[in-house]
Amino acid sequence: MAERSQTAPEAGNDMGNDDAIGGNVSKYIVLPPGYCGQPKKGHLIFDACFESGNLGRVVHVSEFEYDLFIRPDTCNPRFRVWFNFTVENVKESQRVIFNIVNFSKTKSLYRDGMAPMVKSTSRPKWQRLPPKNVYYYRCPEHRKNYVMSFAFCFDREEDIYQFAYCYPYTYTRFQHYLDSLQKRNMDYFFREQLGQSVQQRQLDLLTITSPDNLRQGAEQKVVFITGRVHPGETPSSFVCQGIIDFLVSQHPIARVLREYLVFKIAPMLNPDGVYLGNYRCSLMGFDLNRHWLDPSPWAHPTLHGVKQLIIQMYNDPKTSLEFYIDIHAHSTMMNGFMYGNIFEDEERFQRQAIFPKLLCQNAEDFSYSSTSFNRDAVKAGTGRRFLGGLLDHTSYCYTLEVSFYSYIISGTTAAVPYTEEAYMKLGRNVARTFLDYYRLNSMVEKVAIPMPRLRNKEMEVQRRKEKSPSYKHPLLRGPASNYPSSKGDKKNSVNHKDPSTLF
Ligand SMILES: [Zn+2]
Repeated sequence: MAERSQTAPEAGNDMGNDDAIGGNVSKYIVLPPGYCGQPKKGHLIFDACFESGNLGRVVHVSEFEYDLFIRPDTCNPRFRVWFNFTVENVKESQRVIFNIVNFSKTKSLYRDGMAPMVKSTSRPKWQRLPPKNVYYYRCPEHRKNYVMSFAFCFDREEDIYQFAYCYPYTYTRFQHYLDSLQKRNMDYFFREQLGQSVQQRQLDLLTITSPDNLRQGAEQKVVFITGRVHPGETPSSFVCQGIIDFLVSQHPIARVLREYLVFKIAPMLNPDGVYLGNYRCSLMGFDLNRHWLDPSPWAHPTLHGVKQLIIQMYNDPKTSLEFYIDIHAHSTMMNGFMYGNIFEDEERFQRQAIFPKLLCQNAEDFSYSSTSFNRDAVKAGTGRRFLGGLLDHTSYCYTLEVSFYSYIISGTTAAVPYTEEAYMKLGRNVARTFLDYYRLNSMVEKVAIPMPRLRNKEMEVQRRKEKSPSYKHPLLRGPASNYPSSKGDKKNSVNHKDPSTLF
């Protein structure tokens, strides 16, 4: 933004050189050039040496402006998107501009109003910065890289401020969440360790189903769900937690689903990458979602473990693997949406569209029109593509994507920023859509469920009463409009017994 001072390093020198970044900054005090003596209040201290932290370097441009460099993924300098760092030793009313100068992507939701997240010690709830304080532009001073600049005014001297690309969701948080579920001693919830990562972190596998389905010789219809193969895609974990919370709940739909289906969930496929604050890769720099064809037990042990289990289920005549859903977050698209496979068999292709169409009816943030089906060569190593090729015509494999930023409700034009709760709600809606799907396919018949949607809506009203939204948006919908009656690409009056009305 401002003119760079004489003392700042020259652009094109080491400024854009990511090889110079070895690790995260650790309590790094930024002093003005030429300053000697003790640091004073207002000499900012940057830190990213904590779980999921990421900030590689800070350059003092002026008293008011700092260039910040994302630390590239470990062993893979190509990926630089996730950032997560703290700033302390601030002065009251200190105004700064932070420039994030080395993103590896050029397309971004920053142009559409996305803004970094912030919280501080005295205000521990994450909030998005106002979009008017965020600028995204091609910067001639940084080799024409795209730079995201944001203005911020520190207001409390004792606070430590934390800034992040999106709501963080750490490995430790995930472990605590699973521990709390285990303590509830539910007889339909099972947690096991399917393997370990290169750095010896747990690869957790959850099984949620009625214990009757786990009897010796019982036939199983399995829904397999994975998340966080890309560690910086934190919304994946919130969606996954929403699915799990719903499935273990006493909601009537959850009870029916547990009775008919076996849910196998591996919510964190890349625990090392999550821990390290990587965006896309594992510790060793592999994009695990390109290695499904031939995962190595030593280089990609978590992926190898999950694939072994899936193949074992595939070979078990008593097990029918019906769905595979891999949950991701998207850095340039709005809403939730899916990617599916293309098949020669037209009927199979059509049947594959049913689940996303049903989900679109249940979730106001899910877009069927953004859902697409492809067979790009570049995606051949993904879970969806590999399993789509392996499994037979009765199985459906999807990638579920959700925006890092916001969703647009059909019929409106304003973007509603996602909250942690909104991501979890998408997860709950994914879970209950399985009942709609199996009802449509007549597997679950005449199950008495008292007004499930109304109940869900009541739960939602209750939840909103309990918590006021963290980010007030003029178009945030009130509780009465959770299930809008007019939605461009959504059909609300679908007869669940007649598939033809879906197309
Ligand atoms: Zn992804």
